[in-house]
Amino acid sequence: MTLNRRIFMGTGAAAMASLSAPSVLADGHGRPRVVLIGGGAGGATAARYLAKDSKGELDVTLVEPSRTYFTCFFSNLYLGGFRDIDDLGHNYGTLAAKYGINVVHDWAVGVDRDSKMVTLAGGSKLPYDKLILSPGIDFVDGAVEGWSVSSQNAMPHAYKGGSQTELLKAQVMAMPEGGTFAMVAPPNPFRCPPGPYERVSMVAHALKSSNPTAKIIVADPKEKFSKMSLFQEGWANHYAGMVDWIGSDFGGGNVSVDPNAMTVTIDGEETKVDVCNVIPAMKAGRIAELAGVTEGNWAPVNAADMSTKADADVYVLGDASQQGDMPKSGFSANSQAKVCANAVRGALTGSKVFPAKFSNTCWSLIGTDDGVKVGATYEATAEKISKVDGFISSTGEDSATRKATFEESEGWYAGITADMFG
Ligand SMILES: Cc1cc2nc3c(=O)[nH]c(=O)nc-3n(C[C@H](O)[C@H](O)[C@H](O)COP(=O)(O)OP(=O)(O)OC[C@H]3O[C@@H](n4cnc5c(N)ncnc54)[C@H](O)[C@@H]3O)c2cc1C
Repeated sequence: MTLNRRIFMGTGAAAMASLSAPSVLADGHGRPRVVLIGGGAGGATAARYLAKDSKGELDVTLVEPSRTYFTCFFSNLYLGGFRDIDDLGHNYGTLAAKYGINVVHDWAVGVDRDSKMVTLAGGSKLPYDKLILSPGIDFVDGAVEGWSVSSQNAMPHAYKGGSQTELLKAQVMAMPEGGTFAMVAPPNPFRCPPGPYERVSMVAHALKSSNPTAKIIVADPKEKFSKMSLFQEGWANHYAGMVDWIGSDFGGGNVSVDPNAMTVTIDGEETKVDVCNVIPAMKAGRIAELAGVTEGNWAPVNAADMSTKADADVYVLGDASQQGDMPKSGFSANSQAKVCANAVRGALTGSKVFPAKFSNTCWSLIGTDDGVKVGATYEATAEKISKVDGFISSTGEDSATRKATFEESEGWYAGITADMFG
């Protein structure tokens, strides 16, 4: 017999068993189906935990266009010369072979929430009982005057992993002696709050040896940024006179670019530059919008299980979600994925669901062995994911502490990539 919601709810015995038995099963198939869109920090982790912990009780399908996922985390270290690009690439072989996940390399192009069906670019359709979206970010059209995605080769964002990061590094290495690197920093909220400033540090580190008279200018629409005093101290210590950060008080938010002329105009003053890294304002990956679960730029979710406010059977993880106090980071997406996987498995198989607890740490490298960090723990409240307590590195720390912090980040990278890809 196929168990469906009507039979399940209609029998006394089944109703009595509702605390431990499946509460959601679509008609006409065997194992409950979970489809995940996006094989990054959120999606790959959730797929792995669902498959691993359900021990074959769930049919888990992961949709991801790329065969190799290049992490954005540690991509700044590649810019600084501390990592090779190959160190950042990970594939889905173990998720398929060891965990039995159906890995489908394609784009999801549509979600029909009424019929619970995902459509792929190749034309296939994937039915689901529960759908988990972790598509990362896209850019807000027109966010930086003069820039659009079609300008990304002339002025890379390098805010999605892989080829954009390689392009930016090639451009930095090809800068003329004494040339200018410009960055247009994004407004809040955005992926990886310390990311642009770690990038400034790592570009400065690379230029310090290859091109020591080069200059870096940063146009920033914000008055302050993550770990600001730590970065500013580090820039003064390692790269004195090289970095000119122009915050909103000095017109850093009033910016336009011309990718053909390679100019940046900050508060009316035009500068010819050699490299321009434009990091525009961000929004949830487009498939979340197509699924109809976004409000404004992001997808509001319930903190207890990451289900969307729009649909209890559709979940959004990571950068695309609007969840409360957690920063948009790989660590956060990984943490949210485990909470979500536990809740989805519970809903589909009746397994025990644990109270949601989350944590995050964002490490940044400022110079050789000069690592800093900021982090916090969080809990689910009725309104949002709420910060419980936090910590941050101090200015003036000794070099042994900074080295230990960097080494901690290396351990974290090995740990999270194993947690995502097996
Ligand atoms: C320079 C930089 C440095 C960073 N450093 C750190 C760090 O040190 N620590 C840290 O924790 N975080 C860091 N981050 C942030 C981190 O990379 C992101 O927060 C994290 O990757 C978010 O995970 P996600 O699952 O939301 O998205 P992603 O990891 O981006 O995964 C999204 C996936 O979805 C896929 N996708 C999108 N649309 C579709 C579709 N329609 N169909 C199928 N698949 C789709 C994409 O191909 C992608 O693989 C950094 C980011 C940057 C840019």
